[in-house]
Amino acid sequence: MTKWCYSFRQGEAEGGAALGDILGSKGAGLAEMARLGLPVPPGFTISSDACRHYHTYSRQAPPGLTEAVDAALKKLAADAGHAFGDPKWPLLVAVRPSGRVSTPGLMGTALNIGLNDQTVAALAEACGDERFAYDCYRRLVEIFCCVALDHEHHEFEEPLEEFKEAKGYARDSNLSASDWREILGRYFEIAKGGFPQDPREQLWSAIRSAFVSWHSPRAQSYRALHEIPEDIGAAVVVQAMVFGNIGGDSGAGVAFSRNPSTGAREIFGEFLANAQGEDLTSGLRTPVPIRKDAGKPDAGSLEASLPEAFVELEQCAARVERHYHDMQNMEFTIEGGRLWLLQTKPGRRTTSAALKIAIDMANEGLIDRETALSRIEPASLDQLLHPTIDPSDRPLVLASGLPASPGAACGEIVFSNRDAEEVAALGRKAILVRIETSPDDIAGMHAADGVLTARGGMTSHAAVVARGMGKPCVTAATGLRIDYDLQSFTVGGRRFEKGDTITVDGSSGKVMAGAVRMLRPALTGEFATLMGWADKARRLRVRANAETPSDARAALKFGAEGIGLARTEHMFFEGERIVAVREMILADGASGRRAALAKLLPMQREDFKELFEIMAGLPVTIRLLDPPLHEFLPKTDTELANVAKAMGADPAKLNKRAQELSESNPMLGFRGVRLAVAFPEIVDMQARAIFEAAIEAAIETGKPTHLEIMVPLVFAKAELDLVKARVEATAKAVEIETGIASRYRIGAMIELPRAALLAGDIARSAEFISFGTNDLTQTTLGISRDDAGAFLKSYVAKGVLPTDPFVTLDAAGVGELIALGCERARQARPDITLGVCGEHGGDPVSIEFFERIGVDYVSCSPFRAPIARLSAAQAALGRSTYGGSDE
Ligand code: ADP
Ligand code: MG
Ligand code: MG
Repeated sequence: MTKWCYSFRQGEAEGGAALGDILGSKGAGLAEMARLGLPVPPGFTISSDACRHYHTYSRQAPPGLTEAVDAALKKLAADAGHAFGDPKWPLLVAVRPSGRVSTPGLMGTALNIGLNDQTVAALAEACGDERFAYDCYRRLVEIFCCVALDHEHHEFEEPLEEFKEAKGYARDSNLSASDWREILGRYFEIAKGGFPQDPREQLWSAIRSAFVSWHSPRAQSYRALHEIPEDIGAAVVVQAMVFGNIGGDSGAGVAFSRNPSTGAREIFGEFLANAQGEDLTSGLRTPVPIRKDAGKPDAGSLEASLPEAFVELEQCAARVERHYHDMQNMEFTIEGGRLWLLQTKPGRRTTSAALKIAIDMANEGLIDRETALSRIEPASLDQLLHPTIDPSDRPLVLASGLPASPGAACGEIVFSNRDAEEVAALGRKAILVRIETSPDDIAGMHAADGVLTARGGMTSHAAVVARGMGKPCVTAATGLRIDYDLQSFTVGGRRFEKGDTITVDGSSGKVMAGAVRMLRPALTGEFATLMGWADKARRLRVRANAETPSDARAALKFGAEGIGLARTEHMFFEGERIVAVREMILADGASGRRAALAKLLPMQREDFKELFEIMAGLPVTIRLLDPPLHEFLPKTDTELANVAKAMGADPAKLNKRAQELSESNPMLGFRGVRLAVAFPEIVDMQARAIFEAAIEAAIETGKPTHLEIMVPLVFAKAELDLVKARVEATAKAVEIETGIASRYRIGAMIELPRAALLAGDIARSAEFISFGTNDLTQTTLGISRDDAGAFLKSYVAKGVLPTDPFVTLDAAGVGELIALGCERARQARPDITLGVCGEHGGDPVSIEFFERIGVDYVSCSPFRAPIARLSAAQAALGRSTYGGSDE
């Protein structure tokens, strides 16, 4: 026989936390607190099975439920000392829906059930307080109409306001019994006879409403969005009322066992005297803090006004926290100076509070370090790694866009690369403002402190590049009209010129006027402690994708253990270099190409040397040139003329060559290893620059450079072998010239399905393999990321893909290829190093997958390194349970 009702009272309970699915989180929490002997008003929880049954069998309550509720009510009467429906001394109850997880759209709690025209008088008599009894009654009529009869609160609030106005009462004044009687008359008119006088009918209506609300459209769409199963159903708690509205030494409040914004180990919360639960959220009256604020005059805190109840609350909070091993958010009521606990749940907290609480609790011995690690959501660390807007500042918000890359930045408005670089060169800060960005804007994005675009999305060029650089970025700012000619933009009727100061907040998407105050991230203290624990717990190594000295330094600061991807073409975008690169690309023979390469050699050497010096002894993976040609070809006449001048060539001829080189599908065109196969002199130059730089850097730092040379976009061992031969020959040549032998490893970047399938073959020549998951996702799904915006959203919305595969690895497809590639590569070469580079290397869910298939390291943007370190630790420990809930 199904058990429908689970009773509880102070000191004992049927069921508990283990029955969360059946009792819902509220019911389970009440049972747990009751078992701990804490002051919980008696009651019972109707199993969520009843709700499930109700929906399965066309809105029929399951057989046996009525009898079970009757029996539970009888027990409740015994525990409470009087009975529900008793005409002389009526027991009132609260009917409280209790979901497994918080679900907006579920029916609200109905309080004071059991009152009618007759019992209200009995209650007044029993308590000797008529005002109180009628206050409860009017609350019941309003709430019952709203939860069970589809009325809305404003229908009741408006006449109440009018009444107070007519009488000349203040908004928050206490009304008398006769006032309430008068108002009740109006409420019954609004209810149009729908309010039942029979307490049992009230009770069953409220229970049925809770069942029905489980299937409200709002609840359903919420569950769909959060992947909460449809069939769990809501449990319903029926509980004896305790009264916070029965005088000055009564009231309702919420408490956190620790401070949810700072994590400080002290009880924190708010209390409203002479009130019932809903008054706390209505905002009509302002609650007081529950604690005295040290050093400040007391604003009527609970601690000062009801010290005994406060001390008991503090002890209860500590007890419940010790029981759950986590910070708790509790709801309580005080009736005539006596404390009652009504709910407990893990408390929501800021990231910095979460860090402090996890570490404090581990140090207090309440949880172990593994649990502490599991309590922090890796992605939330982002908030700590970037400057944030000081919440005490009140800036003028100009526009809202998409929060494309977190952090806040302020600076002078600039519209071009050149202006961004100029402002930066003067040591000032710039915000690059563009309609949208393209690879041409990389230099400006580098120089600027923040990026703002009028168009784009979360995965547009600006967003992806800015995230990679760890630069705050807002895209798709609404109402932003940019005029490049006038060097100004307008927004919301205001006009801003080049040089004016604005602030962008890439965490919230807000664009603000002027320089807004910021808070700097601190990578010390609790953050450092937690990262230290994560580093001990994880197996996966974490490297960073970095090529500039500032990125490399950031990588070290954020705890990366080397560079997993240095994109050499990114070193070519800046300044005069691009001209030399264009010269090399447009040269129509090997000798012209060598001349251009000779100009690039010293620049590359210097760059590599600086990189190796910064990384002193840590692994550095240099990827050979992989230029999508179109990003380098001159586009304007001026650009063409510049290259022609540098080459001493005829611009018209050069233009023709550029036309010949232009491709219809550059992504699958003449790039990666294909360039090295066709023009091996490029490899010669790059290898020479690498070896010479490594030798110099090793002398300077005293540490041998841990060098890895990676060949991009291979699909066959033979391609790798051609490049390998050139690299080996160059190494020999440099050895003869310098007398120093270079130590290095050579490997392949796997970005094509064929390469993954042939990884075993490739591994016979590759000492390491790194999966370039951005391109591998594009080539496996046949989706170009730059064009995916138009349809990917509907693919996710319609469930064709579970998530954006460019954010979280498509484990089923791309992941399968990687797993297979790893297995085949290891078979061919057991000691091979296997890595992952690409944005997935910094994504927690993807990292869990990489841990499972046993890759050796992930490489991500420097700013995501801490996220990757923590994710890797959680993946290794096989757990992640982030605290906080709304229920
Ligand atoms: P929610 O899920 O919206 O928090 P609850 O069921 O927790 O709804 O109820 C909201 C508030 O109603 C509680 O915080 C409390 O103030 C009041 N309340 C709930 N149950 C009782 C009760 N048995 N006696 C007195 N007040 C109650
Ligand atoms: Mg609650
Ligand atoms: Mg690639």
